[in-house]
Amino acid sequence: MVLTRSQARKKATFPFLDLPAELRTAIYHLALGGRVIHVDRGGGSHEKQSETDARTSVCEAVISDKESYALKRLQLGPPDALGNSSRHKDCNRPAAKILPLSFLSVCKQIHQEAAPVPFQANRFTFWNRKSLARFLRYLKPEQQNAITTMILYQVHIQRGWESTSHRSLKAPRLLGLREVLVCVELAPGDYLPFFGDGESITSKTIQDDRVSGMGRLKAPKLDRVEVLINSSLGHIPPLTSAEIKAWEGRIKSMLSK
Ligand SMILES: [Zn+2]
Repeated sequence: MVLTRSQARKKATFPFLDLPAELRTAIYHLALGGRVIHVDRGGGSHEKQSETDARTSVCEAVISDKESYALKRLQLGPPDALGNSSRHKDCNRPAAKILPLSFLSVCKQIHQEAAPVPFQANRFTFWNRKSLARFLRYLKPEQQNAITTMILYQVHIQRGWESTSHRSLKAPRLLGLREVLVCVELAPGDYLPFFGDGESITSKTIQDDRVSGMGRLKAPKLDRVEVLINSSLGHIPPLTSAEIKAWEGRIKSMLSK
């Protein structure tokens, strides 16, 4: 039998939409999910960003945040190489170029089915409240509410999660958020008393202030909060394990309330 050109083309096309729905969903998750996506990573602070611009990149770290915390606690490997900025130094490739998002424009049905997947099936990381607020402003409500997992970094003396910084920011609403991992990483500078208050990170008040902005998340479905604090600093005596445990507990209950 001789096929016409259009019959031949049809025959050569894989009948993707004839696959069972659950198999299509699994394929969407494989193609568009399973990554750690950094928000506002890679753009130096000197670069001007518009209020609606949210830069996303895919994490290329060779060890995960959790693994590096475990290694650091065991004091295996040079602490600098395990630190947040070294770990994520190569994570600059734009997410839009790595995730095959063009796949969404194949047809209307695929778009409808797969559009929430990049938000549902990836973990989003933020270094401060401002980036989180800007990212959410950039998303449609259904995209915002599709986000299920976030990692929040509080690194060194940066004060990006204090609720007093950027007071005007609205409390972020994430109706689909189920899981949050908080990674706190201290540096020697954290132990120096700040001007004015004269207190260092060993004070409970300073510890709680440092992450207070995280407690403003409105996430009614949040059911898993994990907190990792690392304070091993070489020659400076770190927080004791009891102090770390207490701080981890306070962050957990602040987020879970
Ligand atoms: Zn990374």
